[in-house]
Amino acid sequence: MASDTTPVATPGKMTPEEEDFMIEAAFRDLLDGYLKSNHRKKVEIIERAYRFAKEAHKGVRRRSGEPYILHPIAVAKIASQEIGLGSTSICAALLHDVVEDTEYTTEDIEQHFGPKIAQLVEGLTKISGGIFGDKASVQAENFRKLLLTMSEDIRVVLIKMADRLHNMRTLGSMAPNKRYKIAGETLYIYAPLAYRLGLFAIKTELEDLSFKHEHPEIYEEIASKIRESEAKRTAIYTDFATPILEKLDQMGLKYEAKARLKSVYSIYNKMVNKHLPFEEVYDLYAMRIVFDCDDPGKEKTICWNIYSAITDLYRLHPDRTRDWIAVPKANGYQALHLTVMGPDGNWVEVQIRSRRMDEIAEKGFAAHWRYKIGEGDEESELNAWLKTIKDILDNPEPGAIDFLNTLKLNLFSSEIVVFTPAGELLTLPSGATVLDLAFALHTDLGIHAIAGKVNHKLVPLNHVLASGDQAEVLTSKTQLPQPEWEEFLVTAKARTRLRQALRRVRQPLVDKGREILEHWLLDHEIPDTNAVITKLQGTLHAPNRDELCYQLGAREAILGDFLIGPLKKAAEGDGKRRQTGFLSRIKAIGKKMVPGTGEAPVESGGPTQAERPKINPKEIYPLRMTAEGSNFKLADCCNVVPGDDVMGFINDSGEVEIHSLDCPRAQVLKAGFGSRIVATTWESVSERFLAHIHIEGIDRHGMLQELISLISTHLGIDIRKLDIEASAEVFHCELWVRVSDASVITALCEKAREIDGVNSAARVNH
Ligand code: MN
Repeated sequence: MASDTTPVATPGKMTPEEEDFMIEAAFRDLLDGYLKSNHRKKVEIIERAYRFAKEAHKGVRRRSGEPYILHPIAVAKIASQEIGLGSTSICAALLHDVVEDTEYTTEDIEQHFGPKIAQLVEGLTKISGGIFGDKASVQAENFRKLLLTMSEDIRVVLIKMADRLHNMRTLGSMAPNKRYKIAGETLYIYAPLAYRLGLFAIKTELEDLSFKHEHPEIYEEIASKIRESEAKRTAIYTDFATPILEKLDQMGLKYEAKARLKSVYSIYNKMVNKHLPFEEVYDLYAMRIVFDCDDPGKEKTICWNIYSAITDLYRLHPDRTRDWIAVPKANGYQALHLTVMGPDGNWVEVQIRSRRMDEIAEKGFAAHWRYKIGEGDEESELNAWLKTIKDILDNPEPGAIDFLNTLKLNLFSSEIVVFTPAGELLTLPSGATVLDLAFALHTDLGIHAIAGKVNHKLVPLNHVLASGDQAEVLTSKTQLPQPEWEEFLVTAKARTRLRQALRRVRQPLVDKGREILEHWLLDHEIPDTNAVITKLQGTLHAPNRDELCYQLGAREAILGDFLIGPLKKAAEGDGKRRQTGFLSRIKAIGKKMVPGTGEAPVESGGPTQAERPKINPKEIYPLRMTAEGSNFKLADCCNVVPGDDVMGFINDSGEVEIHSLDCPRAQVLKAGFGSRIVATTWESVSERFLAHIHIEGIDRHGMLQELISLISTHLGIDIRKLDIEASAEVFHCELWVRVSDASVITALCEKAREIDGVNSAARVNH
């Protein structure tokens, strides 16, 4: 294949036959390499892909003058021999420019080579025109986008990497301005990505090639200095290595040891970053020992044996031992590193690896996978390592620019990236919920949000998003922001916006409540003292006066006449507080206060389990719920909610068991145990009850959204579970909500039936 700079090509001097011979030879070379690999020998399809591509690119030449087909062949060769990919990827690489540059379509590829190869080619076509097009070169965001969109099949990225490497190797024939663009893009996007994928050799080569094209003079200067200093460097290395090699021989190891050459780019970087002259940088060489070992179980021991042999010879730098065997790097890198003082007084790094580890280090996970072949079939093994890489890619780091910078550190993500339905990308801190997303998109969206749709599934507002999710926010004009929302917001911006919105919505209600309170106190001749307000706050569970007024203004709490007595007592002085557990929360149920209990203050102290008073079946039994518990029990057989028509049954333990009047069991009880039936009345309950509602009708676009918006706009309705099933045109919806009393359910069902398309909406009792 073409060497780095010189455009091959003197096409004019070659006859078509000679040229064809050269092409066939290049392909043979690719095939030979593939046949030497551990992959299954799917020669037939590779051969077909080659013929197809050759035909498609027929007559087309690259800028260098060489026949175009040599490029796909070279890319396939890199994919196969330098990345270690198999036949599917080789075919995709051979065909990677066919759809973009010729008449053929993805459908043609699919027809000839099946869906998998077609998908890869499609992916490659997409990123060549889109993300990696002219506009993209310096946008880190796009880099991320690439990772997210392409990690579906990482082979697309890997083949793209091979494509880029070959383009870099043949960059010399491009016009200078294009050269700079491509080199810059390579350094900024591809080299870090190669590192991320564990393709170290490719990363180093990409960096060097980019550097060479961006700074040809400095590159040449450093390269020539390296050449000049070779003799000296060899002498130093020999001095250092000889005693080590003797030891390794004594240990009976089969190994390969070499001085690790620093790349031009890394020498340059060190010179710039540490302000050192070349002479001081190049001295910092390293040695690499790669040993052969058939038993992976022994690799670790051998590594440490070599380690100890070296430290017997040279002084160890105490802080620079790196054990990447026990804890491999996220990209799969394994090795044991140590740094010792060489005979010339310089620190020398020694890297110890088995052959297997070395392959992983140079070629990334593909090599790792290669070692495992034979244990399973090709696809499942492939998927396993693709998943490993995907896992790495799924954890992008914060800040677009930082992302690239911290790439080397393999940090775990503190951010997620989600897609909007329009395909836009949004970064959010990890742990962000649907509501965070809503506020991130727009405050209006946040305050009117009712639910989310994540990957087409309906989710509540507190659903935690994951990177790569496609997320959408459902809203309703009538929705109001809720204070509880703050609990499931993780972004400061969303919290601030929610608070602002709450204040906007709240203030008029607080003002209204304050007025209500003042009038009521005045009407009942209760003084507005601290003791009174404290008492009232305690009763209504309001942490402060503001909240109390808000509850009153929002009609979440009501000032019932039963409060008069206790408050007057409180006004008289709070020294004689005898009552405990006085009054339940009367929120919501307040308006349904039962006649008869309204005038007189409610008796203090709901009966506890221990001292249950005798129940007189002839009297109406008031059902109460206090902070201490309730004076009744809900029967398991029916889903009763307060306000339902119910009856009590005095069970064997003397508790009042509540049944719906039409509960089949209640019928039995009435018939058999008439004397133990007691009439009841709902008095005060603060708990919310679970109710099951069934809604059905004709499905249409937007039905679900309307239902949800209806439910959520009903103050106090809290959806616990929602199952919707649509088949053909009919939908069934099973809905479980928590409500304070039955009237809410009735109202909800009535409203639901008003929705266009809803045939029935009714509570399910049993
Ligand atoms: Mn290409």
